[in-house]
Amino acid sequence: MIISSSHVVAMTGAGISVESGIPAFRGREGIWTRHGTPAADGYSQFLEDPEAFWARQHLGRAEPWIAELRNALDAATPNPGHIALAELERAGALRSIVTQNIDGLHQDAGSRSVVEIHGSRYKLRCVDCGIRTPREELFMAQAPPPCESCGGRVKFDSVLFGEPIPPEALEASMAAANQADCVLVIGTSATVRPAGGLPRIAQSNGAKLIEVNTSETALSKSCDIVLRGKAAEVLPQLAGGVSLGRATSWQ
Ligand code: NAD
Ligand code: ZN
Repeated sequence: MIISSSHVVAMTGAGISVESGIPAFRGREGIWTRHGTPAADGYSQFLEDPEAFWARQHLGRAEPWIAELRNALDAATPNPGHIALAELERAGALRSIVTQNIDGLHQDAGSRSVVEIHGSRYKLRCVDCGIRTPREELFMAQAPPPCESCGGRVKFDSVLFGEPIPPEALEASMAAANQADCVLVIGTSATVRPAGGLPRIAQSNGAKLIEVNTSETALSKSCDIVLRGKAAEVLPQLAGGVSLGRATSWQ
């Protein structure tokens, strides 16, 4: 299916980074399953008092699940699943990745065309003018100054509960969903909107769906192919199969 498609897009969620040591939020071992689901008003807390918000982030008063996630993110490196997607892109078999992850592991693995629909932990973003800047090491430990362009409120780029998806990221993800004729849906429960709705948008435009997930999801029954297993094991096999299949079909 991948070989016979002309515009393959991968849509990835927390599951692809589990083998890199970063737990997902939901599911049996999920961070929220163990710590409880956090308050759903993170973004309004930031808007109400950005200084107090940053102080909570930096004075060790962040909630325990955030501390656990942060430690895991600091230690993580790409796993064979991330690497397989980068190989597929280099081989011309994958056009782009739309990821819900903020961990930067696709880029670390060598993927070039990556849309981060929920932002990146390595960036800051002004919520007033939308400009994104690299998050220097310094601002991991202290609050950043107001926006250099507009004087506005600067927040980390990762999207909080209740926060709108930055318009450019949303546009780029919609474009990928509209152009795709085959979507690999990897390690996502596809329940977080709007990101979780993208595979169905692609499908309604005629794209085939291939799911890679350890568990059944709300999307499984509508997928053309379901590969039940760990992304770090399934994706290298898939990339190997695509490479072999292409070599054979060119002979
Ligand atoms: P989710 O937590 O809702 O779902 C994770 C999915 O991954 C589940 O369907 C689970 O069955 C599957 N999964 C677990 N282990 C897997 C594995 N080894 N291989 C393949 N699949 C596996 O995650 P979500 O749907 O991505 O949504 C939660 C939001 O939180 C997203 O925005 C997500 O990106 C973000 N988040 C990001 C990170 C990160 O940056 N690494 C980590 C946790 C959560
Ligand atoms: Zn600004």
